[in-house]
Amino acid sequence: MRAADGGTGEVKTGGNYAASLYAAREAAEKGYDQVLWLDAKEKKYVEEVGSMNLCFICDGKLVTSPLKGTILDGITRRSVLELARYNGIEVEERALSVDDIFAGVESGSITEAFGTGTAVVISPVGQFTYKDRTVVIGDGKTTGRVTQELYDTLTDIQYGRMPDPHGWVDLL
Ligand SMILES: *Cc1c(COP(=O)(O)O)cnc(C)c1O
Repeated sequence: MRAADGGTGEVKTGGNYAASLYAAREAAEKGYDQVLWLDAKEKKYVEEVGSMNLCFICDGKLVTSPLKGTILDGITRRSVLELARYNGIEVEERALSVDDIFAGVESGSITEAFGTGTAVVISPVGQFTYKDRTVVIGDGKTTGRVTQELYDTLTDIQYGRMPDPHGWVDLL
């Protein structure tokens, strides 16, 4: 849990990071890169990863948690969703549970996952571990096609290699 309902999860405040730094250190000691944040109430739905918002490519659609009080309304998340829609990718804002992720990856409906945040822009996720289960997405190493497409388009706009149809350059 990173931030509870009614807490300060939706803004960047130092207080949220005390809990997250502790978890991040524990994860690093176990050899993981990032901490997966579950919702505080049911501890079932996946909300964010590290200091990134989390997106999945599921049956060709981009699926990400809806914004509620506990989810940070990241600028990168917003840009990626707008860009995906602009590129003709359907966007679904719905909560995925840990079980949904394991089942989705195992059945092949979830083909890609990535985190979004200003620092990394888009960072592909190779595998998820929860308790004693791990699933690997694709071969666990190669950046997925949609992830790569969104990354390329976003960075091309950022660096002025492509026209900016969204009026973002000032924001990024
Ligand atoms: C910073 C941050 C994000 C990403 O937000 P951006 O505005 O895209 O950088 C997502 N989740 C958390 C918890 C964060 O601290």
